[in-house]
Amino acid sequence: MSAAFVLVNCDPNYQELVIKQIATMPEVTEAAPLYGAYECIVKVKNLKQNQIRKFVKDKIRKLNKVRSAFTLYLKDDLIGNFGYRTKKCPKCHSMDIIIDKNNGEKLCEECGFVVSERLSENAL
Ligand SMILES: [Zn+2]
Repeated sequence: MSAAFVLVNCDPNYQELVIKQIATMPEVTEAAPLYGAYECIVKVKNLKQNQIRKFVKDKIRKLNKVRSAFTLYLKDDLIGNFGYRTKKCPKCHSMDIIIDKNNGEKLCEECGFVVSERLSENAL
């Protein structure tokens, strides 16, 4: 399992439309506009690398107005070693951590493990 970012190059006149289409795809966590060489950055959910490849090939690149897409895979296994703050579940290593809005607990969506209780404001 790996999370990935996809850099999307499209017709700049259709940037907003392309981002809106991408943002509604179930595989996508976030899609945001960029300045410069690419029009959009997309964060893809934790999937197997071949699923991410297939998603980019069959869904992103097939969109009208999309010219190209470049995929960056996160090295999930190394993130902890470099001292980054991560939202990884210590139990099952899933990165699908959700915040329970009712009590502010960080929960693992995969296994239900409570990652941290009572999150402070700046940790959000
Ligand atoms: Zn978990």
